[in-house]
Amino acid sequence: MNFYILTLFPEMVMNGLNTSIIGRASEAGLLQIEAVNIRDYAVNKYGKVDDYPYGGGAGMLMQAQPVYDAWQSVVERIGKKPRCIYMTPQGTRFTQKTAKDLAKEEDIVLLCGHYEGIDERVLEEIVTDHISIGDYVLTGGELPAMVVVDAVSRMVPGVLGNEESGMKESFEGNLLEYPQYSRPEEWNGKKVPFVLLSGHHKNIETWRRQQSILLTKERRPDLLEKAELTEREWKWLNEI
Ligand code: SAM
Repeated sequence: MNFYILTLFPEMVMNGLNTSIIGRASEAGLLQIEAVNIRDYAVNKYGKVDDYPYGGGAGMLMQAQPVYDAWQSVVERIGKKPRCIYMTPQGTRFTQKTAKDLAKEEDIVLLCGHYEGIDERVLEEIVTDHISIGDYVLTGGELPAMVVVDAVSRMVPGVLGNEESGMKESFEGNLLEYPQYSRPEEWNGKKVPFVLLSGHHKNIETWRRQQSILLTKERRPDLLEKAELTEREWKWLNEI
Protein backbone atom coordinates (compact mmCIF):
# COMPACT_ATOMS: atom_id res chain seq x y z
CA MET A 1 0.00 0.00 0.00
CA ASN A 2 1.31 3.46 -0.87
CA PHE A 3 0.86 6.63 1.18
CA TYR A 4 1.76 10.07 -0.17
CA ILE A 5 1.76 12.70 2.56
CA LEU A 6 1.60 16.28 1.32
CA THR A 7 3.16 18.40 4.05
CA LEU A 8 5.32 21.40 4.90
CA PHE A 9 7.20 19.23 7.43
CA PRO A 10 8.31 16.04 5.67
CA GLU A 11 10.98 15.20 8.25
CA MET A 12 8.36 15.23 11.02
CA VAL A 13 6.18 12.57 9.41
CA MET A 14 9.04 10.45 8.12
CA ASN A 15 10.83 10.42 11.48
CA GLY A 16 7.61 9.36 13.16
CA LEU A 17 6.73 6.65 10.66
CA ASN A 18 10.15 5.12 10.12
CA THR A 19 10.26 3.31 13.44
CA SER A 20 8.88 0.13 15.00
CA ILE A 21 6.22 -1.94 13.21
CA ILE A 22 5.43 0.60 10.49
CA GLY A 23 9.13 1.18 9.81
CA ARG A 24 9.75 -2.56 9.52
CA ALA A 25 6.76 -3.00 7.20
CA SER A 26 8.14 -0.23 4.98
CA GLU A 27 11.54 -1.89 4.91
CA ALA A 28 9.88 -5.17 3.99
CA GLY A 29 8.14 -3.46 1.08
CA LEU A 30 4.60 -3.96 2.44
CA LEU A 31 4.15 -0.21 2.71
CA GLN A 32 5.57 2.71 0.81
CA ILE A 33 5.38 5.99 2.70
CA GLU A 34 6.50 9.14 0.97
CA ALA A 35 6.40 12.70 2.25
CA VAL A 36 5.99 15.27 -0.51
CA ASN A 37 7.26 18.69 0.52
CA ILE A 38 4.67 21.28 -0.51
CA ARG A 39 7.34 23.99 -0.19
CA ASP A 40 9.18 22.45 -3.16
CA TYR A 41 6.21 23.64 -5.24
CA ALA A 42 6.28 27.27 -4.07
CA VAL A 43 5.64 29.63 -6.95
CA ASN A 44 8.18 32.23 -5.74
CA LYS A 45 11.90 32.00 -5.16
CA TYR A 46 11.60 32.44 -1.37
CA GLY A 47 9.71 29.19 -0.85
CA LYS A 48 6.78 31.09 0.62
CA VAL A 49 3.57 29.06 0.54
CA ASP A 50 1.22 31.05 2.81
CA ASP A 51 -0.54 34.41 2.66
CA TYR A 52 -3.13 36.52 4.49
CA PRO A 53 -6.77 35.42 4.29
CA TYR A 54 -9.11 37.63 2.26
CA GLY A 55 -11.63 39.38 4.49
CA GLY A 56 -9.15 39.67 7.35
CA GLY A 57 -8.86 37.56 10.45
CA ALA A 58 -6.03 36.01 12.41
CA GLY A 59 -3.23 33.93 10.95
CA MET A 60 -2.05 32.85 7.54
CA LEU A 61 -3.47 30.46 5.00
CA MET A 62 -1.67 27.92 2.81
CA GLN A 63 -2.04 28.99 -0.80
CA ALA A 64 -3.80 26.90 -3.41
CA GLN A 65 -1.16 26.62 -6.15
CA PRO A 66 1.71 24.88 -4.26
CA VAL A 67 -0.73 22.40 -2.73
CA TYR A 68 -2.25 21.69 -6.13
CA ASP A 69 1.14 21.23 -7.78
CA ALA A 70 2.37 18.89 -5.03
CA TRP A 71 -0.80 16.77 -5.50
CA GLN A 72 -0.43 16.92 -9.30
CA SER A 73 3.17 15.64 -9.05
CA VAL A 74 1.89 12.49 -7.32
CA VAL A 75 -0.99 12.03 -9.76
CA GLU A 76 1.32 12.34 -12.76
CA ARG A 77 3.83 9.93 -11.27
CA ILE A 78 1.38 7.16 -10.43
CA GLY A 79 -0.92 7.78 -13.40
CA LYS A 80 -4.19 8.02 -11.44
CA LYS A 81 -6.11 10.17 -8.98
CA PRO A 82 -6.17 8.29 -5.67
CA ARG A 83 -8.38 9.17 -2.71
CA CYS A 84 -7.06 12.42 -1.31
CA ILE A 85 -7.76 12.92 2.38
CA TYR A 86 -7.59 16.36 3.93
CA MET A 87 -6.77 16.09 7.64
CA THR A 88 -9.03 18.69 9.23
CA PRO A 89 -10.89 19.24 12.51
CA GLN A 90 -13.92 19.90 10.29
CA GLY A 91 -13.83 16.34 8.91
CA THR A 92 -15.67 13.13 9.74
CA ARG A 93 -14.34 11.52 12.91
CA PHE A 94 -11.67 8.87 12.19
CA THR A 95 -12.60 5.41 13.46
CA GLN A 96 -11.39 1.82 13.18
CA LYS A 97 -14.11 1.34 10.53
CA THR A 98 -12.63 4.18 8.45
CA ALA A 99 -9.18 2.62 8.84
CA LYS A 100 -10.48 -0.71 7.50
CA ASP A 101 -12.18 1.01 4.60
CA LEU A 102 -9.04 2.96 3.65
CA ALA A 103 -6.88 -0.18 3.88
CA LYS A 104 -8.65 -1.47 0.75
CA GLU A 105 -7.02 1.29 -1.33
CA GLU A 106 -3.75 0.80 -3.15
CA ASP A 107 -2.75 4.49 -3.01
CA ILE A 108 -3.79 7.24 -0.64
CA VAL A 109 -2.84 10.91 -0.55
CA LEU A 110 -2.96 12.62 2.86
CA LEU A 111 -3.00 16.39 2.85
CA CYS A 112 -1.71 18.18 5.96
CA GLY A 113 -2.74 21.76 6.57
CA HIS A 114 -0.89 24.25 8.75
CA TYR A 115 -1.42 27.79 10.08
CA GLU A 116 -5.14 28.59 9.68
CA GLY A 117 -5.63 25.91 7.06
CA ILE A 118 -5.69 25.83 3.24
CA ASP A 119 -7.35 27.96 0.55
CA GLU A 120 -10.78 26.39 0.00
CA ARG A 121 -10.49 26.41 -3.79
CA VAL A 122 -7.77 23.78 -3.95
CA LEU A 123 -9.60 21.64 -1.41
CA GLU A 124 -12.65 21.69 -3.70
CA GLU A 125 -10.42 20.66 -6.58
CA ILE A 126 -8.49 17.70 -5.12
CA VAL A 127 -9.96 16.46 -1.82
CA THR A 128 -12.18 13.35 -1.78
CA ASP A 129 -12.46 12.85 2.02
CA HIS A 130 -12.25 15.14 5.04
CA ILE A 131 -11.05 13.38 8.19
CA SER A 132 -10.67 14.62 11.76
CA ILE A 133 -8.89 12.66 14.50
CA GLY A 134 -10.94 14.29 17.24
CA ASP A 135 -12.76 17.38 18.42
CA TYR A 136 -9.75 19.53 19.18
CA VAL A 137 -7.52 21.77 17.07
CA LEU A 138 -3.87 20.90 16.46
CA THR A 139 -1.23 23.13 14.91
CA GLY A 140 -0.92 20.99 11.79
CA GLY A 141 -2.18 17.93 9.94
CA GLU A 142 1.06 15.99 10.36
CA LEU A 143 0.18 14.19 13.61
CA PRO A 144 -3.32 13.35 12.31
CA ALA A 145 -1.82 12.00 9.06
CA MET A 146 0.58 9.84 11.08
CA VAL A 147 -2.34 8.54 13.13
CA VAL A 148 -4.19 7.57 9.95
CA VAL A 149 -1.14 5.93 8.33
CA ASP A 150 -0.47 3.92 11.49
CA ALA A 151 -4.05 2.72 11.98
CA VAL A 152 -4.57 1.91 8.27
CA SER A 153 -1.21 0.16 7.91
CA ARG A 154 -2.06 -2.25 10.72
CA MET A 155 -4.91 -3.52 8.53
CA VAL A 156 -2.59 -4.31 5.62
CA PRO A 157 -1.95 -8.07 5.49
CA GLY A 158 1.49 -8.96 6.82
CA VAL A 159 2.14 -5.68 8.67
CA LEU A 160 1.30 -7.16 12.07
CA GLY A 161 3.34 -10.27 12.76
CA ASN A 162 0.37 -12.23 13.99
CA GLU A 163 -2.73 -11.74 11.79
CA GLU A 164 -4.92 -12.62 14.78
CA SER A 165 -3.68 -9.71 16.84
CA GLY A 166 -5.44 -7.32 14.47
CA MET A 167 -8.67 -9.32 14.59
CA LYS A 168 -9.38 -9.42 18.31
CA GLU A 169 -8.66 -5.86 19.26
CA SER A 170 -10.78 -3.07 20.64
CA PHE A 171 -13.71 -1.96 18.45
CA GLU A 172 -14.19 -5.39 16.83
CA GLY A 173 -17.93 -5.96 17.17
CA ASN A 174 -18.11 -2.59 18.97
CA LEU A 175 -16.45 -3.94 22.11
CA LEU A 176 -13.24 -2.89 23.84
CA GLU A 177 -10.55 -5.51 24.31
CA TYR A 178 -10.42 -7.49 27.57
CA PRO A 179 -7.61 -6.80 30.12
CA GLN A 180 -4.37 -8.72 29.58
CA TYR A 181 -1.61 -9.91 31.89
CA SER A 182 1.95 -11.19 31.52
CA ARG A 183 4.61 -12.54 33.92
CA PRO A 184 5.01 -12.65 36.86
CA GLU A 185 1.87 -14.35 38.17
CA GLU A 186 1.88 -11.96 41.12
CA TRP A 187 3.06 -8.35 41.02
CA ASN A 188 2.74 -5.75 43.75
CA GLY A 189 0.34 -8.01 45.63
CA LYS A 190 -1.92 -8.35 42.57
CA LYS A 191 -2.50 -11.81 41.11
CA VAL A 192 -3.28 -12.72 37.51
CA PRO A 193 -6.96 -13.84 37.34
CA PHE A 194 -6.99 -17.57 38.08
CA VAL A 195 -8.95 -18.55 34.98
CA LEU A 196 -6.08 -17.38 32.74
CA LEU A 197 -3.72 -19.86 34.42
CA SER A 198 -6.22 -22.74 34.23
CA GLY A 199 -5.40 -23.81 30.67
CA HIS A 200 -9.18 -24.23 30.13
CA HIS A 201 -9.62 -22.53 26.76
CA LYS A 202 -13.41 -22.38 26.78
CA ASN A 203 -13.49 -20.74 30.22
CA ILE A 204 -10.76 -18.32 29.21
CA GLU A 205 -12.72 -17.38 26.09
CA THR A 206 -15.90 -16.80 28.16
CA TRP A 207 -14.05 -14.76 30.79
CA ARG A 208 -12.45 -12.56 28.14
CA ARG A 209 -15.73 -11.97 26.38
CA GLN A 210 -17.42 -11.00 29.65
CA GLN A 211 -14.56 -8.69 30.58
CA SER A 212 -14.82 -7.03 27.16
CA ILE A 213 -18.52 -6.44 27.70
CA LEU A 214 -18.06 -5.09 31.23
CA LEU A 215 -15.21 -2.79 30.22
CA THR A 216 -17.19 -1.43 27.29
CA LYS A 217 -20.21 -0.84 29.53
CA GLU A 218 -18.05 1.08 32.01
CA ARG A 219 -15.91 3.14 29.62
CA ARG A 220 -17.83 3.32 26.34
CA PRO A 221 -21.55 2.77 26.90
CA ASP A 222 -22.13 4.44 23.52
CA LEU A 223 -20.32 1.53 21.83
CA LEU A 224 -22.09 -1.13 23.84
CA GLU A 225 -25.43 0.03 22.44
CA LYS A 226 -24.20 -1.06 19.00
CA ALA A 227 -22.38 -4.21 20.15
CA GLU A 228 -23.35 -7.61 18.80
CA LEU A 229 -24.25 -9.43 22.02
CA THR A 230 -26.26 -12.63 22.16
CA GLU A 231 -29.60 -12.67 23.95
CA ARG A 232 -27.93 -14.66 26.71
CA GLU A 233 -25.21 -12.05 27.10
CA TRP A 234 -27.73 -9.20 27.33
CA LYS A 235 -29.60 -11.19 30.01
CA TRP A 236 -26.36 -11.85 31.92
CA LEU A 237 -25.44 -8.18 31.71
CA ASN A 238 -28.83 -7.07 33.00
CA GLU A 239 -28.60 -9.47 35.90
CA ILE A 240 -25.24 -8.35 37.28
N1 SAM B 1 -8.69 27.13 11.22
C1 SAM B 1 -8.98 25.72 11.23
C2 SAM B 1 -10.35 25.49 11.87
O1 SAM B 1 -10.73 26.24 12.75
O2 SAM B 1 -11.02 24.51 11.49
C3 SAM B 1 -7.92 24.97 12.04
C4 SAM B 1 -6.61 24.97 11.37
S1 SAM B 1 -5.42 24.02 12.26
C5 SAM B 1 -4.71 25.23 13.30
C6 SAM B 1 -4.16 23.72 11.09
C7 SAM B 1 -4.23 22.37 10.42
O3 SAM B 1 -4.09 21.36 11.39
C8 SAM B 1 -5.51 22.04 9.69
O4 SAM B 1 -5.50 22.57 8.39
C9 SAM B 1 -5.49 20.54 9.69
O5 SAM B 1 -4.75 20.02 8.59
C10 SAM B 1 -4.77 20.20 10.98
N2 SAM B 1 -5.63 19.76 12.09
C11 SAM B 1 -5.83 20.43 13.25
N3 SAM B 1 -6.63 19.77 14.08
C12 SAM B 1 -6.96 18.62 13.46
C13 SAM B 1 -7.78 17.51 13.81
N4 SAM B 1 -8.44 17.46 14.96
N5 SAM B 1 -7.88 16.49 12.92
C14 SAM B 1 -7.24 16.54 11.74
N6 SAM B 1 -6.46 17.57 11.35
C15 SAM B 1 -6.32 18.60 12.19
